[in-house]
Formats: sequence, structure tokens, C-alpha cells
Amino acid sequence: MQIKHSETLKKKDDKYIWHAMRPYQPEATMVIEQGEGAWITDIEGNRYLDGMSGLWCVNVGYGREELAQAAYEQLKQLSYYPMTHSHVSAIRLAEKLNEWLGGQDEYVFFFSNSGSEANETAFKIARQYHKQRGEHDRYKFVARYRAYHGNTMAALAATGQAQRKYRYEPLGTGFLHVTPPDLYRGPGLEAAEELEKVLAWELPETVAAVIMEPIITGGGIIMPPDDYLQAVREICDRYGVLLIIDEVICGFGRTGERFGFMHYGIKPDIISMAKGITSAYIPLSATAVKREIYEAFKGADNYEYFRHVNTFGGHPGACAVAVRNLEIMEEERLVERSRELGERMLNDLKGLEETHPYVGNVRGKGLLVGIELVQDKETKAPLGVEQVNKVIAACKKRGLIITKNGDTVAGYNNVIALAPPLSITDDDYAFIV
Ligand code: PLP
Repeated sequence: MQIKHSETLKKKDDKYIWHAMRPYQPEATMVIEQGEGAWITDIEGNRYLDGMSGLWCVNVGYGREELAQAAYEQLKQLSYYPMTHSHVSAIRLAEKLNEWLGGQDEYVFFFSNSGSEANETAFKIARQYHKQRGEHDRYKFVARYRAYHGNTMAALAATGQAQRKYRYEPLGTGFLHVTPPDLYRGPGLEAAEELEKVLAWELPETVAAVIMEPIITGGGIIMPPDDYLQAVREICDRYGVLLIIDEVICGFGRTGERFGFMHYGIKPDIISMAKGITSAYIPLSATAVKREIYEAFKGADNYEYFRHVNTFGGHPGACAVAVRNLEIMEEERLVERSRELGERMLNDLKGLEETHPYVGNVRGKGLLVGIELVQDKETKAPLGVEQVNKVIAACKKRGLIITKNGDTVAGYNNVIALAPPLSITDDDYAFIV
């Protein structure tokens, strides 16, 4: 019975569903039916520990009844109202997010539905902000190679991975890229010097904002030197350029701090958030904007307000789930747990750099850990993608889902990512390691 049922579902899946980011390979498709804690179960009854939290987003783990309950209660009371006005659960969430950002009420929030939209919103705010202050020439954005910022035309333009953009171009205009720092392969702090040079060469007064993740995630968990982000902040300030920090993955405890930028002692002007904000129980994203920027949108002129709306952004059900999700993280100290387990994982795996022929580098912060596989430790030549795929398949066979990250065009698709739910048990941890 079970097998027949799953065969039918798989046939229907192949017939009707267009899968994300995978070459056509129906036999490899997992059809997942259930999730509990860090574990998922497919329609054939196979169980896997989800070492990727879905797409780096199920931070509190699967199957939390309280989150379903929070959505249920909210939808019964108020199922929807647009954010052209407001509703109670959005206000509660904005207050909570300010607590998570340091408790000083410094940020105002625009809600959307995905990380891509949070970044699109950030770009539009940045351009309009400068114009409203009389700096009409500022329209360019500087992002970094290897980074991913989303699938929409401007978020993809900001993305620094050619493979993701190829055949979809031309995209949004005005996006430039610089080299990210990389503690394993270099450059180090010189990457900040390159950013400054590019700003100078482009005429700084034509640049609206710099966008970056605190740690590049999807591009291969690439670690910066500790003082890089501080240097970037100073450069942005020197040239009147806004700093947008993309916390879509790094936020909500993933790196062992509430937000990734908090490791580096800076304050962003704009912060994009998504994924872990609801632990992906329901779609929601936010663009957090420094209050001074928001103030520039209060003018009386007909075009001075932010002429931007989305139907579902800040949905009451999503905001209610987000609030409860953040409370669960606080009650269970999941940010601290991420930090502690991350440190333990680096300790437990670091030795592989010496003992394993293909492990070139083990790195990360919190439960965001990358294992870079190389053919040769001297030259650091990346291990080929077929070999990396074998590692992933071997882990799956043993019941652990992991992915590879990097950049196919650059030839670096060789970093194994580990980003399990922050709520993993000690047994789960031992199983992964
Ligand atoms: N920014 C980063 C750093 C991401 O990793 C992603 C998605 O993985 C996005 C933005 C886009 O988010 P979404 O897929 O929700 O549009």
C-alpha cells in the first residue's frame, strides 16, 4: 500500500511540479511528508536529519504546535488587513524586532514576503532616500562576488554568482561587484581597500549603497577577517553611502548572535531579514531601516512617501508566528545554543584539516559551518563537483541531508554546508558530527 501510494505521488510530482534550482532528475526527488525536531520523513518512510534546516531557515526545528497555534489564533481573530494601515500583530512584531536589534528603538520596519523582496525594498528605499535629500546622482549599488541576494531582477543583479544570472540578463542596472574577503584563500582586509578604490573610481557621489552579508553563506560560507565589516562601515560613512546588511540567512541566531553583524561591532543603515524570522513556518520578511532614513520620507510633496506596497507583506498570521518564534528562541536560549554547538562543531571537525586527505578548511560561526573540500592542500585546488556530490550522497544514505555551496562558474562548488536547526538535541549533534 505504502509503496503504491508513494509511486503515484512521485508520478504526479514529476508531471505537475517544476523544482527549484535542480537539473531535471525525477528519480532523485524526495517527497517529504512530515517533520519533527531536526528530522524529516519522506513518503516512503525514510527519515533524515535535515542538516540544512530546509533552506537555512527552520531555526526552531519542525513540528512546533505552538507556532501552528499562534497562526490559528491570529487567523481566527483577524485573517488579513493590508499594511497601508496596520494591525496588532505587526506592531507586536516590530517592537520585538527592535528588542532583538539592541532594544534602542532605532529601526522602522517594512514587511514583505521573501528575502528577495526585502532586498528589493532596501534598494528602492536607498535610492529614494538620497534623492529626497537632494543627492540626485546616487543610484549605484556595490555588492560582492560570490554572494547571493535573491531571485528577483534587482536582487539577482546584486548577486555575485554568474551561474545564477546567466541567460536571465539584462537585469537591474547600476550594480557593481567587488571581491569578498576570504580567510582561507585571501584576500584579507585588502578587500576593504578594493571597495574603497571602486567607490572612488565610480565617483562616490553616484553610489547609493553597499550591500553585503556579514558572512557569505550560499556562496560557500566565506569568513571575513574580524575587522573587515568595521572597515566597510567607515568607508561607507566617509562617502555618504548607505550600508545594507543582508541577514536573510545570518540573522535569528544562525551565527550564534541574534544577527550576524553583531559579531563585528557595527550598526547597519538597512537590514534585510527573512527565513528564520518565522523559522519558515509561514512566509515573511522585513526591511529594517534606521529611523533617520524613515524620517526623510515624511515630506509633504506628493512623491516623497515610499510608493511601495505588497498585498501579503506583514500578514497578521505571519507576524503572530514570528513573534512566537522569537519567544521560543528566547525561552530555549537557541541563539546561545547555536553559538555553543557551533564552537563545539568547529573543535570536533577542525582536526579533519590534518587527518583527512580532502578537507582543506573547516570554518564558520554558530550553526553555520562550512567544510571546504580540496584535491590538494598545498594548491587548494577545489575538489571536483562529482566527488563533492559523492560525499553528499554518502551522507544522505546514512540519513543526513547536507548541501554543497560555492560558485560553479568560479570552479568553487566544493564547500559542504552544515546549518541544522538551532534546536538540535545532543544526539542529533553527535549524529551529524
Ligand atoms: N539573501 C540571502 C543571503 C539569501 O540566502 C537568500 C535566499 O536564500 C535571499 C536573500 C533571498 O531570499 P528568498 O529566497 O526568501 O527570496
